[in-house]
Amino acid sequence: MQPRNNLDQASVIPDALKDFTIVEEPFYRASGEEVALFEAAYRMRIPVMLKGPTGCGKTRFVEHMAWRLGQPLVTVSCHEDMTAADLVGRFLLDADGTKWHDGPLTMAARLGAICYLDEIVEARQDTTVVIHSLTDDRRILPLEKKNEVVRAHPNFRIVVSYNPGYQSVLKDLKESTKQRFSAIGFDYPDDLAEAEIVAKEAGVDSAIASALVRVAQRSRNLRGHGLDEGASTRMLIHAAMLTRQGIPIAQACRMAIVLPITDDPDVREALTAAVSVCF
Ligand code: ADP
Repeated sequence: MQPRNNLDQASVIPDALKDFTIVEEPFYRASGEEVALFEAAYRMRIPVMLKGPTGCGKTRFVEHMAWRLGQPLVTVSCHEDMTAADLVGRFLLDADGTKWHDGPLTMAARLGAICYLDEIVEARQDTTVVIHSLTDDRRILPLEKKNEVVRAHPNFRIVVSYNPGYQSVLKDLKESTKQRFSAIGFDYPDDLAEAEIVAKEAGVDSAIASALVRVAQRSRNLRGHGLDEGASTRMLIHAAMLTRQGIPIAQACRMAIVLPITDDPDVREALTAAVSVCF
């Protein structure tokens, strides 16, 4: 399938963004109306927040959408030590003196790309406010250190992911940041869809994929009983891949799911018991 870009004027991707262009279609199994909702927000240049638990397909979705829309995707994994300069850019010393280097946000805004801030709540609030002027109708980014105001390219969009489970008083978005976004809700796919994803991504047969989905469902029932989150689709894919290397399925589940997900011996035991009844 060729990427479709019927939403914007056909645009030439600048050389600096060539590496950020997704050439092959990323497999994405839709669960609802998310593709149409994203396209509507894209057309209207409304910033989008993808909300859902870790490993449920948010990043894969944005990669798929960037490919579908024929737009480069600049991804930033947010973390608490990230500064505004990491997003915006900074002067760096080289042989000829100091030279300005655009950060990923500035590059996406200047040249026209989708900028994806993954796990935005991980960044400090004083860092995330730099996106404010880009996420309202001004669509500008003032570079104070450089004495320049970047006007966002027509194809610039901002997308963030946000895991409501990680939210706490200390880690949350400012109300003024949240209110700039539209949101699309994500969750783990239903069992048939999740088995299809695991089978396709890991290259295993549907019987193994379905058994792993049952493991995931049981682990998700332990949410709030010792586990913050159950096994993600990503973990199931890892377990499935290990079985392809000849690791017995129970051991693969221990390695890819039980041990990484908890340090609590009682929860581990409960999870191991839950795994053993799935095969
Ligand atoms: P998130 O960004 O929500 O943490 P990812 O998008 O990285 O999660 O998903 C983890 C992995 O699970 C992906 O790399 C992909 O293999 C698989 N996956 C999850 N949901 C889907 C889906 N709906 N379609 C295709 N693959 C999916």
